[in-house]
This record gives sequence, structure tokens and C-alpha cells, in this order.
Amino acid sequence: MITKESIENLKSHLDVVDIISQFLELKKSGANFKACCPFHGEDTPSFVVSPAKQIYHCFGCGVGGDSIKFVMEYEKLSYPEAIEKLASMTNVSLQYDNNFKKIDSTIISKVNEYYVKLLTHNQEATKYLKSRGISDFSIEKFEIGYAGNSNDTINFLKTSFLNLADAKEFGIIDSGQNGLYSRFIDRITFPIYTINGNIVGFGGRTISGHNAKYVNSPQTKLFNKSRLLYGYNLAKDSIYKQNTIIITEGYLDVVMLHQAGFNNTVATLGTALTQEHLPLLKRGEPKVIVAYDGDKAGLNAAYKASLLLSHGNFMGGVVIFKEGMDPADMVNNNQIDDLNNMFSSPVGFIPFVIDFIIKKFNVENPQEKQQALKESNDFLKTLDPILQEEYQSLVARKLNVNSQLIQVQHFNNQRSNNVNLSSIDIAELSIIKTVLDDTSLLEVVKKELRPEMFEIHSNEYNLLVNEPEHPHLVGLMLNEHLISYSKEELKHQLNLLLVPYYNKQLQQLTYDKDIDFKIKARKIRDIKKKLHDLRSSKLINI
Ligand SMILES: [Zn+2]
Repeated sequence: MITKESIENLKSHLDVVDIISQFLELKKSGANFKACCPFHGEDTPSFVVSPAKQIYHCFGCGVGGDSIKFVMEYEKLSYPEAIEKLASMTNVSLQYDNNFKKIDSTIISKVNEYYVKLLTHNQEATKYLKSRGISDFSIEKFEIGYAGNSNDTINFLKTSFLNLADAKEFGIIDSGQNGLYSRFIDRITFPIYTINGNIVGFGGRTISGHNAKYVNSPQTKLFNKSRLLYGYNLAKDSIYKQNTIIITEGYLDVVMLHQAGFNNTVATLGTALTQEHLPLLKRGEPKVIVAYDGDKAGLNAAYKASLLLSHGNFMGGVVIFKEGMDPADMVNNNQIDDLNNMFSSPVGFIPFVIDFIIKKFNVENPQEKQQALKESNDFLKTLDPILQEEYQSLVARKLNVNSQLIQVQHFNNQRSNNVNLSSIDIAELSIIKTVLDDTSLLEVVKKELRPEMFEIHSNEYNLLVNEPEHPHLVGLMLNEHLISYSKEELKHQLNLLLVPYYNKQLQQLTYDKDIDFKIKARKIRDIKKKLHDLRSSKLINI
């Protein structure tokens, strides 16, 4: 984490006029500055920046805040991301506390530059790119490169005096029986950036007929495949402007769709869409278009994505490409109008799931129809009550049954996501949300935390440990009433949960007459040790 002191130091270097004028054209107006508000459409400026108060305010739509808030809103960044962006804009360095080392990604940028240069010298690779219809402009925009043989990469690292251990840490090279080798050999390379514009890994496509058509960088501290989206850094402006994001399956789809003007396209990195992608998709609340291939794998992936997105209440839907076609081919065939039509009329996530379920069965057969009804019902029950009502008739129509056979669930006794959360609910659920947001915490938390230690939400915790993909957890992840704690705060909250729990255990044990004295003494000793460790904050090592 970034230290508080360095954030304070950064703040003292920020000037709101200086920062905002790097994004908007500000005009002096008395003691203040004015501009047309970037957060709502307007022709006469009502967005005012005050150097004296170091704040901005829009009299049209009511937004306002300081430099940090502006960068968060304008660039759709989280607080720490905005801090890092401001630090680099103002050349102020940040300090991180011990358990987090800011990783220097210079080495991976250098390697990227090297790959980009190699591409210009490699006829085979450029010929392949041309054959797929990729323009020079796209090659430059996406910094597409070429990794040659293993020794070339290693020699490059050595002659550039780059640290080989760092290169290993970034997954550029690895060591095997015969010494060091490069992870990308004879491959076209696609650098993968974070939303903030740091390269964290590569995708590579073979051009020498290797068995693995595509490989990605290995999972590293920085490179988390299930959280990143290829092309997001280049697509984000269009995503927010058009209020729509298109998710495809491959690097080439992204490159070609951008080339055809669909600049809001991204792709998952050879994996399915996961819960961990959802916070990124939520930024700016765009409509999500899942655009996948029509083969079996593509349909299955679209089904899973639709389940995830319908539970997260995302707007948008699914577009399936005819078998054998992919968006890259369609752009290459100049079918831009077809693409436009497809993207503007996707099938909603919920109807897509219902269709997918029903298609698995032969509904002419009464028993299979019954099974289709049951599975559709089970899916409907996982949705919000209003949506259940809404799609009841769709299922009835599709199966040609009386809609009274579709049982929607009424949520009378159920705790719904946002209503009446007590402070205990919030504290307990926020612990769960924090771990969902950073799954690396789960291993540590699991060591000391068992479901029965929660006063109310042992079920949710149980899901987190045993069924982390459960739809109910998506709801928690996106619930704005819950907090994603910092590590420090998480530790504190766990103490608040565990100290009373162990005290209660201790009390019960003390008055327990049926237990053998020796066992009792040992148990009491164990609990006291836990309490002692908790108080001296040695129990949980986050
Ligand atoms: Zn405004």
C-alpha cells in the first residue's frame, strides 16, 4: 500500500488548475477558471475551478471535489490508481509500506520495444499479419511485435544490462534443465497493459506451427489473467463515451475491430470471463456486449458469461458469430454493416441463458420438457424478484406451458442485497467483499477464520471458501453499501470478529462441567494464546 505520508506529500504538490488543465481547456473568469463540464453535455460553461479553494464544481450537474476526485472521475480510476497517476503526472515519488513493493516494469517495456523492432525485420511475421488484414497503423497502435529465438531474447537482456532475475519475475524468461530460455519463441507478441498504461505481460501467437497456438505470460504478481482485459487501456475512452464495451475472445478480434472503428473492444486473455473481471466492467457502468464464436466452446463461454453478468445486473447482451466466422474475418471481408447490426441488437443475458438451458433438451419428450422446466426455474430463482416475474412468461412461452407452472420465488423472509443492513451485517459482509476483491487474501484469512465465527453471515463465508463463483457472491461484490477494506482495516475488523468469539468460547468452556480437566485446561490455554496473539496482532498475517 502507498504510505499515508507520501499521499500527504503528493497532495501538497497538487494544484487543481494545473491538474484539470491537463484534461480540459480552462478559461480564466475572475478569480476562478471555467470550462464546459466533461461530466454532462453542455455548450455554455458551468464547470468552475477554484484555485483558492483547490476544488472544482459544476453548477449544471452538481459534481465536484479536489484534484484526486477529478482524476478518479475523469479517468474512471480507483483511489490508489488516481494517486499513482497524479504522482507520475507531477513527478512526485510515492512510498509503499513493507509488504508491497512497487514493481518497476521498465524491463518489460524495454523487451516490448525490442520485440516491436524485431517485427520490422521479420518477413514471415509481417506476412502473416498482412494476410490477416492487419494494417500498419494497427501494428503501431497495438505495439505488435515479434519474439525470435530464445538466445536472441536472452542476449538482448544481457547486452542491455537488464537484470535476468527481474526478467524471470516478469515471466519473460525461465530456467530449465539446459539453463535459461525465453518464454516467447517464434511468436507474434501482443503487449498487455493495465488500465493505467503499464505493461504487465504478453500474449504470443506462434508462426512456426507450434502446438500451442497462443501462449500468455505466466501468472505473476502483476499479471493476473482473470482480472485483465486485453486492449482496455486503448478502449477506455470509447467505452465511456459510447457507454458500451464489446468483449471478444482473442487478440486479433480486438485489433481488427478497432481497425474497423469499434474502438470499445477488449478481450479476455485466453480465459473465460470471471468474477474478478466484474469490477473492471463496472467502471463507468457501460452496456456489456459479449461477442463470441458460434462453436461449442464459444457458446459455453457465452452461457457462463451471461450467468455471471445477469446475476451482476449488467445491461447488454450476447452476440454469437456464425460457425466458422469470427469478427476478425468479418472485418477482413469488409462486413462492417453486418457487425454494426449485430452489435446493436444483442440477445439479453437472461433470455440467452434461458434459451441455452432449453436447447439442451428435446422438449417434444414430456420428461425432458419437465427437466427443461425445472432447470429454467432454478435459474429464474437466482434472479431479483422483479426479473423473475418478468421472465416467467418467456419461459412459459418457450416451453409452451401454463405460466403458473413457473414458480417465482418471493423474497419475503430473504435478506435482499441492499435493504436494512445492520452494522454487523455490513462489517461481516465487508470482510467477505474485501477477500472477493483480492482473492490472494483468502489463504491467509482461511487459516484463522471458520464459518461459525460469523454471527450472521456464516453461509456467505462458507460460499466464499467452498464455492467462490456462486452468484450470491457477485451481488456482494457489487453491493455499494459494503466496504472493500485496506489490509490494515481488514485486520482490525477480523479482530473485532474474533476477540468476542474466543471470549465467548472461553466463558462456555470455563463453566463446562462435563469435560475432562486436562482437556479443558489445554483448550483454555489454546484459546488464551489465540486471544493474546490477536491483541498483539500476531494472529493474522496480512
Ligand atoms: Zn456538469
